[in-house]
Amino acid sequence: MSDPLTEFLPGEAREPAGPRQRFVLDDSGFDEVPKKYRRFYRKWDGPADVLASNEVLCPVCKVVIRSTRELRVGDRVYCMPCMSRLIVMRGAGGRLEARVAYG
Ligand SMILES: [Zn+2]
Repeated sequence: MSDPLTEFLPGEAREPAGPRQRFVLDDSGFDEVPKKYRRFYRKWDGPADVLASNEVLCPVCKVVIRSTRELRVGDRVYCMPCMSRLIVMRGAGGRLEARVAYG
C-alpha cells in the first residue's frame, strides 16, 4: 500500500455523495521521494495552483499529495517527503485542506 490515503471511513452516513471517484496518476517528476512513489506527489505552484479532488496540500512542506481516490473530509493521508500524518479538513474557502494529525 503506497497510496498516501491511508485510512478512510466508507460509510454512507458520512458519505452521501456516493462512491469515490478514482484517478489514474502519472509520474509528476517529483524527485524527493523514491521513483515508485513519485506519482503520489507533485510540486505546488503557489496559491494559483488549482488542486484536483484527489489532491491536498501538505501544510508542512508545501508539496501536493495525490491519491488514486477522491479525498474527503476526515481522511487520513501520509506525506512521505516530510513524514507527516495529516487529516483532510474543509478549509475556510470551502476547499479541502490538510492539517497535521497528532496522536
Ligand atoms: Zn509534507
